[in-house]
Amino acid sequence: MTRAARELPRMIEPGAFLGLLGGGQLGRMFTMAAQSMGYRVMVLDPGADSPAGSVADAHVQADYLDAQGLRTLASHCAAVTTEFENVPAESLRFLSEHCRVSPAADSVAVAQDRIREKQFLASAGLEVAPYKVIESAGDLAEGVAHLLPGILKRSRLGYDGKGQIRAEHADQLGGAFAHLGGEPCVLERRLALALELSCVVARGLDGRTIAWPVAENEHASGILDVSIVPARVPPGLAAAARDAALAVAERLDYRGVLCVEFFVLDDGRLLANEIAPRPHNSGHYTIDACVTSQFEQQARALCGMPLGDTALHGPAVMVNVLGDLWACGEPRWEHVLRIPRAKLHLYGKREARPGRKMGHYTVLADSVEEALRAALDAREALRNDAAVAL
Ligand code: ADP
Ligand code: MG
Repeated sequence: MTRAARELPRMIEPGAFLGLLGGGQLGRMFTMAAQSMGYRVMVLDPGADSPAGSVADAHVQADYLDAQGLRTLASHCAAVTTEFENVPAESLRFLSEHCRVSPAADSVAVAQDRIREKQFLASAGLEVAPYKVIESAGDLAEGVAHLLPGILKRSRLGYDGKGQIRAEHADQLGGAFAHLGGEPCVLERRLALALELSCVVARGLDGRTIAWPVAENEHASGILDVSIVPARVPPGLAAAARDAALAVAERLDYRGVLCVEFFVLDDGRLLANEIAPRPHNSGHYTIDACVTSQFEQQARALCGMPLGDTALHGPAVMVNVLGDLWACGEPRWEHVLRIPRAKLHLYGKREARPGRKMGHYTVLADSVEEALRAALDAREALRNDAAVAL
């Protein structure tokens, strides 16, 4: 850390500008949370009209590697965070010479690269799915039979199931590797998953950690579909996931909010899947169902403020709203809003494309079953309307 960074006051007071790399929905929800505490937010994003840029106090329209844009951010902001895990680590390093940056470039770099991430998870004592690093086509020639059927995942720049190809047989691997650009990949065995879990945790500037309740996640086509909280698993399994996520944050010497995704196998074994060095889609329920949301916590941690309570008010189910629902135009939101304890969040994206995350809603209820039923009934109604177009 440079002298300038060390001399910054530990607590950044409301009124200051906070910088944000990335203009997506995670950034939008961070911006809104920080603004409601009185901070101002400056977003750096290359798009003209991004979900976060359109609500921020200032928008620097520039590429993440643009020196001028980064200098503008550094000169106005007391601290900078990121909402986008593929933000170049060198940009974070550059910014850290001028202002506080959390999470640090080194933590983000681990999560940006599946090969480093898996090695890190294993070194932290967490079990991961059987895999092999594939750096060239020659690496596919042997030692892969036990990983089939498998998933070839590009090591860098994947998200929401992108940059992944499923393979049943060895003879499909060469084509899949070429299709992914011949870039470093991991070939991972496709496991029969009993369910998926995630745990969002925060670690403050003082090193204090706190976890939110563990979420049970359902995915469709590699994209998160539904999060159910609390997860319907034995307390010991939820505690193991929480402890593992906290251990990851400690071991990375992490500052800020991170999420660890887990697989649970039929025999109850818990495997770590991946780390997101930022708030996570499976933590959106915290906005409406917890005392402190993951986005408020991100602002608290960034500003060196004490962390807030993560207690859950009650059972909650979050449903992602994808662009597919716009097949007949704007969905009829009364299907959601007629549930008195539903909270709708739309991200202000102008163009709805299939698979694009446009928003989410969270349903609160006295039991998980009741929340799930109401949440899925609403989605069924939205889907029925959209299906009329097909
Ligand atoms: P992303 O970065 O796109 O989230 P993930 O590696 O988390 O990539 O994969 C997305 C989803 O695909 C997972 O949440 C899970 O549902 C499924 N998946 C990924 N890897 C495996 C695997 N080895 N076995 C079974 N399902 C998997
Ligand atoms: Mg994932």
